[in-house]
Amino acid sequence: MRKCIYCSCEVGHDSVIDFCERCGTNVWGEKMFRTIVQNMENARDNEDLCSTNMPSNSAEQPIEGENSEFR
Ligand SMILES: [Zn+2]
Repeated sequence: MRKCIYCSCEVGHDSVIDFCERCGTNVWGEKMFRTIVQNMENARDNEDLCSTNMPSNSAEQPIEGENSEFR
């Protein structure tokens, strides 16, 4: 179970941040806190895309390389 690093209250395990919304707002202010959460979520989404794209990319590339070597 993940806990807030500031007040040790429970944080959702799918949360991208290690602290609760209340502490985040206290530390950064509401606007900055939301920006940080947004950035973290974007970064996580990009990582997910990369890890799902990589296997198909690496599978395609060797075939292309073989073809160009043949010519
Ligand atoms: Zn907290």
